[in-house]
Order: sequence, then C-alpha cells, then structure tokens
Amino acid sequence: MSSILIKGGRILDPSTGRDETGDLWIVGGKIAKSGRKAARTIDAKGMWVVPGLIDIHVHFREPGGEAKETIADGCAAAVAGGFTSVATMANTGHPVETAMAVRYVRDRAAEAGLARVFPFGAVTKGLRGEELAEIGLMAKAGAAGFSDDGHPVMNSEVMRRALEYAAMFGKPVVSHCEDAHLTKGAAMNEGPVATELGLRGWPAVAESAMAARDAMLSRWTGGHVHIAHVSAKETVEVIRAAKAAGARVTAEASPHHLTLDDQKLRGYDPRFKMNPPLRSAEDVQAVVAALADGTLDCIASDHAPHGTEEKEQEFAACPNGVVGLETTLGVILTDLVAEGKLTANRAIEAMTVGPARVLGLPHGTLAAGSAADVTIIDPGRKWKVDPAKFRSRGRCTPWEGRTLKGAAAVTIVDGRIVFES
Ligand SMILES: [Zn+2]
Ligand SMILES: [Zn+2]
Repeated sequence: MSSILIKGGRILDPSTGRDETGDLWIVGGKIAKSGRKAARTIDAKGMWVVPGLIDIHVHFREPGGEAKETIADGCAAAVAGGFTSVATMANTGHPVETAMAVRYVRDRAAEAGLARVFPFGAVTKGLRGEELAEIGLMAKAGAAGFSDDGHPVMNSEVMRRALEYAAMFGKPVVSHCEDAHLTKGAAMNEGPVATELGLRGWPAVAESAMAARDAMLSRWTGGHVHIAHVSAKETVEVIRAAKAAGARVTAEASPHHLTLDDQKLRGYDPRFKMNPPLRSAEDVQAVVAALADGTLDCIASDHAPHGTEEKEQEFAACPNGVVGLETTLGVILTDLVAEGKLTANRAIEAMTVGPARVLGLPHGTLAAGSAADVTIIDPGRKWKVDPAKFRSRGRCTPWEGRTLKGAAAVTIVDGRIVFES
C-alpha cells in the first residue's frame, strides 16, 4: 500500500483536540506520525484535513428497493459528500432482519469498495413492532445496532426486551420516536402553519413522549437507546434530563431539522416533507443549541431516497424523506458554522468522533495508528446544489438550487483515495 502525504492543511481532529496547520502522513493504510517517500502528495493549503466523516443514519434501499438506491450508489454518494462510514437502516425493500441479510449488506458494501457500511438490523420481525427479530444472530453477523426506523416500536414491552437483548451484545437500539396514534394521517408539523394550510398536523409531543418512554426504559434496563432525528424542543429537554440522570441515551439531529422550519411548507412542496416533519423556528433553535452544547451527540442525514414520480405526487400523498449525503457537509458549514451558530470544531466533532462513539466504532480520529479514513474539505468552495449531478439515485432535496460554501475535495478510506473532486 502506497504512502500519501497531505501537506500544509489545517488538521482538525476533535478526538484529540488537535487544530493546527501541518502535514499528515498515511503509511500502510494507517495514520502515521511521519513518513519517508510519498507515492502521492496532496497540497492541502487552505483546506481542512479532518477524520473521515461518519453518518449513522442513512437509507439505502437494497435489498429489495434497488430502483430507489443501491448500496453501491449510496456508497458513491457518501464518499462524494465526504463520508467514509455510514450506518444503514433496516427498512430496505426486504427488511434486514436476519444474519444473512446483515452479511448481504456488508458483502455488497465490500464489493463497492467505497465507504465503510455498518448495517443496522431490524428490532422486530417485518418491522411490525410485535415480535423481536434475530437480534443475537444479527449482532454476531456484524450488525451495528438495531432499529425499526421508519416505524416506531409502539409496544413498550417489545422495546424493553429489545434494549435488554441488544445490551447483551453492547449494541444500541435506535428509536424512531413517534407515537403513531398521535400522527395518523399527518402531513406536517402541528401548529399555526398546518392550520392555515389545511393539513393534518404531527404534534411534537408524539416525538417527545416516546423519547421520554425510551429514556425511562433505558434507565430501567441499562440498555443504550439512541434517539434518531430529534426535531422538537421538548425532545431536547427529555434527552437533557435523561443524560443528567445518567441514562445511556444518545441522540442525533439531521441537517434539515437544524436549518429549516415549517414555514417552508407554504408552497406544498414535497421537497420539504419528511418524518419527523420540519418544526417551528423555536424548535430549530433548540435543536441547534442542543447540538452545540453536546446534548445531541451527532449530526446524521437520514438520507432517504425515493423515486421522482412517487415524490411528485400531491403533497398529502407523497412519501416522506429527502436525500442528504451529498449536501450535509455544505449545509452545516454554510448555515451553521459560517453563521456562527456552531464552531467548526463542534461541527466536525458531530460528524466524526461523536457518531463513532454512539456506535462504538474505532473511527472518527486522526490518531497515529488508526485506520486512515480522512476527508479533505475545501471550506471556501462555492457550489450550487444540482440534484441531476448526485451520485445517489434519489433526487429530492430541500436545498435544490441553493449555493453552498464548503465541500469535500478528497475522501480517503482505509488509506485509499475513493473520491476526488
Ligand atoms: Zn425515522
Ligand atoms: Zn430514517
């Protein structure tokens, strides 16, 4: 394996607190303190050299939903967006609910040879929320954790057993917090905008009440619950209290919940329809503050590709979800870091060592000796979001046409350059 010298960049590694201009060596696929002969020298002047970015919430639709996203295309989108590791949700065309399915996802990802892929297995059979899936067998096959994401686990007894069982293997249960009785037929956030638009609302309490249940179950069982895509102020309060009480609760926020509010729904534009829905400006502010102060552990895109036709249906009928892997970095740098709402260090932390810790991954660091997953970011590059250019098969993004500042210039996984713009 040939050596790479990344020269003169701003080396920014929140895992070690390092933030200085210097050179980074990659030797034999590992981060090295020094090197001798580089097969490749990359001039990183003016660039940020950070640990490979990690996104622990993406939906690749394979197996079974390849028309929407294959594992290979999802991985291509990941590395183009600067992500070297992703964790894939289990609600694929055929749900990932067996050890064989977990191995399938890992094998397809290895074949693609781009990003590292850590598959979640389903919590329950068929994602139906009734009977536990093969949690132990999936854990042994390499599942990163367990989630019925896309669906809540409504039955508290099932959630309790899932937390206990997953804890035996040191794995988290990722909770899509939604009390489905409160959200039936909902198309957007419940509030004045929904009333005005005549759309049925998804009240924030449907999320915060479930998060409170899961936090209490986590305390009760000692199991690790990770709250997905936090959207509401009250959910932030629940997580803050749970952490203060010593519960094993971690949580994430998506770029859209960190930057967009429900005023965007006024045009009935499906590009702003996701689950949980965009909330009020006050909620957005609370989620940003919670990410800044560490109440929320990481940023995760909830990259959710859908077919264009499907997504272009009438607003109330069109599916939830937008793609995110190729826009997350630009959106976070433009709308949070450049706006002074988040420091560069905290933003990178929330996309590297933060998510690595949630899943117990040995990545998200530039410490000498660790596997060389590195992202070189050009913080000054301005680019326009053009979905036609996405590697992802999904084209629906709320940022279509936006000019963003900051992009991945080079993405390196395990010492190999897998993307270069
Ligand atoms: Zn979800
Ligand atoms: Zn999701």
